[in-house]
Amino acid sequence: MGSAKEAGRPEFFDNYWKRSSLCGHVGEDAIGEEIKVNGWVRRRRDLGGIIFIELWDHSGPVQIVFDPDSNPDAGGVHVRAGDLRSEYCIAVRGKVTRRPEGTENPALATGKVEVAAEDFLLLAPSEPLPFEVGDATDKVDENLRLAYRYLDLRRERMQNNLRTRSKLYTFTRNFLADNDFVEIETPMLTKATPEGARDYLVPSRVNPGAFYALPQSPQLFKQILMVSGFDRYYQIVKCFRDEDLRADRQPEFTQVDVEMSYVVEDDVMTTIEGYMKGLFKTILDEDVPTPFRRMDYWDAIDLYGSDKPDLRIPMELVDLAPVFREGSFEPFRKILESDGAVRALPLPGGASLSRKELSEIEERAKKWGASGLGVFQMKENELKGPLVKFMNEEERDRLKKIGGLGDGDALFVVADPSRLKACTVLGTLRLDLGKTRGLIDEKGWKFLWVVRFPLFEWDEEARRWSAMHHPFTSPVLEQLDLMETDPGKVLARAYDIVLNGSEVGGGSIRIHDPAVQRRAFACLGIGEEQARERFGFFLDALSYGTPPHGGIALGVDRLAMILCGGQSIRDVMAFPKTQKAQCLLSRAPDAVEESRLEELHIRCAPVEN
Ligand code: ASP
Repeated sequence: MGSAKEAGRPEFFDNYWKRSSLCGHVGEDAIGEEIKVNGWVRRRRDLGGIIFIELWDHSGPVQIVFDPDSNPDAGGVHVRAGDLRSEYCIAVRGKVTRRPEGTENPALATGKVEVAAEDFLLLAPSEPLPFEVGDATDKVDENLRLAYRYLDLRRERMQNNLRTRSKLYTFTRNFLADNDFVEIETPMLTKATPEGARDYLVPSRVNPGAFYALPQSPQLFKQILMVSGFDRYYQIVKCFRDEDLRADRQPEFTQVDVEMSYVVEDDVMTTIEGYMKGLFKTILDEDVPTPFRRMDYWDAIDLYGSDKPDLRIPMELVDLAPVFREGSFEPFRKILESDGAVRALPLPGGASLSRKELSEIEERAKKWGASGLGVFQMKENELKGPLVKFMNEEERDRLKKIGGLGDGDALFVVADPSRLKACTVLGTLRLDLGKTRGLIDEKGWKFLWVVRFPLFEWDEEARRWSAMHHPFTSPVLEQLDLMETDPGKVLARAYDIVLNGSEVGGGSIRIHDPAVQRRAFACLGIGEEQARERFGFFLDALSYGTPPHGGIALGVDRLAMILCGGQSIRDVMAFPKTQKAQCLLSRAPDAVEESRLEELHIRCAPVEN
C-alpha cells in the first residue's frame, strides 16, 4: 500500500507522518537524527529562497528550515513551503541539525537546533486569522478572543493555564483520596438550595409546570451523604448562580466540595491547610507555612475593614474613639455617643500627598459610601489638617500616638453611625492605596482563616434576617438561645479561607439537630409549612441519627487563577461567559422553536426593551 507521502493527501495522515517528538522537545541530544514533528505554522521568514518557520504544539516551538538546495524534495506534493500560512497544520520529516553559530536562541528550549525539512505534508490549511495566535493575549480584544476561543486556547499562555488547572484537579483527587475521601456525584437537576443567589431553572417536560433548579451548591446532598455514612465526601463540581455578574463572576463555576462527619472546625481547617500546602508545593514549588493565621470576623473588620483582608498590605486601621469620645470636636463626639464609630487608616509617607491628591482620594471614599474623609498629615513634626484647630493639645498627642503618626505620615479618618461602614470604607481605601502606592508584597502568599462570622445579617429591603452563609450553618453553641432574642449577635461556626485578599473558599460546621434547623429557618422567616415544603426531605433525613458534621467548598476558578498568576477567572476557564452571561462562541443562550416550548408547556411573555 502506498504511504501518505505517495498519496500526498492530508487524509492519508499515517505512521509515516506521525510525530516522533513534540516540537518543543527537540533538543541537542537529537542532533543527527531523523525525526517527525506535527504542529501549526507560526511566524514564517523567507530569506532568499530559504524558508524558516516556527512549528508549534503545546510543548513550544521548533525551527524548521526549508532549503531548496540541500532539501530539493521539501515542498510536499500539493503545496510548497512558500505557500504555508499562519496556523496551517502540517507534518514535517527532517534531520535535526545544530543552528549555525550566532543564530541560536537561548530563550528557547529548542534554541540550539533546527530541523532541516526533507519532506512535509499539509494536514489542514487555515482560514485567514482574526488575530495572530502568536501575539500576547492581552493585545487582543477579549470579545474577539471569546468568539474564536479555539484559536485563543492555542496560545501558549492559555495552554499553560488550562494545563495548570488540570494539575490542580489531579492533585486534588490524589490528596483527597489519600485522606480517605470518597468522590461522589450529586444531581445537576435538583431542587433549589439557598446560597443567596437566584437559581437557574430547567422545565420538566414530563412534569408539566414543574421545574428543576441547577445546584447553587451540592449543600443538601452532601449533608445527606453524611447521614448515609460517607463520612468523608468530596466532589469537583459545577455550580450555577444566576446573579447580575459583577467584575469577575461566572454563572457556572467549579468548586472542590468537601464534607466530613464527627468533626469540629479545626479538623476541616487542618485538612484544607494540608491540601493548600501540597497544592502550592506541587504546582508552584512554593512552601507555604501552616497553620494559617486565624482571625475573628469582627477583628478582620476592625483591623482591615474587610472580611477578606489582603495581609500583604502592611497598614492596619485604628479606633479613634479614645481621642474623640470626650473631645472638643462635636460631630465626632455625637457619632460616638450614639454608638457609631470613628476609625482611621494610617498611610506611612502620606504627608507628601498634595491637596489635589487628597481631594481625589476623598472623592473615591465618598463613592464607597463615606459621608466625608478627614485627613491629618505630619509635616516637619507638626500635625496638620482641617480638624486640628478643633482639638486640644492632649487630643492631638493622643491622635499621634494611636495613629502611629511619625513625621511624613498621614492618617485618613471616617466617622459613621455604622461601625461596619466606617471600617469598610477605610478597608477599601487601604486596598486602593496598597495597589496604587505599590505597598503590596507581590511575592507573598498570605493565607488567613476568617472565623466566627455573624450567623445572620439584616436585609433592609426584605425587612428580615437572612443567613450570612447559608441556613444550614451552626450557631456558636453557647449562643444558641440568642437566635430568637438577639439574632444579630449570634456568631456562626463558619470559616472562610482567604488568600492575598481573595476569598478562595468557605464553609462551616452544620446544624445536625432537626429541631435547631427548624429554629434557624424560623429566624429567617421560613415558617414550619414552608420549611416542610422546601426542605422536608432534608429535615426528615436529619432526623435519622445524623452525625455532627461540617465542610467547605473551595473556588477552583479563583484558585487556578491565582496559581497561574492571572488577573481574571476567564483566563483559566476554557469556555467562559461574558458579563451578560453569554457564550460568544456557541451563541448561547438562544431562542428556541415554538414547538419545543409547547412541549414544555411554556409560553414566553413579549420582551419589553
Ligand atoms: N455550600 C457552601 C458554598 O457553596 C460551602 C459550604 O458551606 O461547604 O459556598
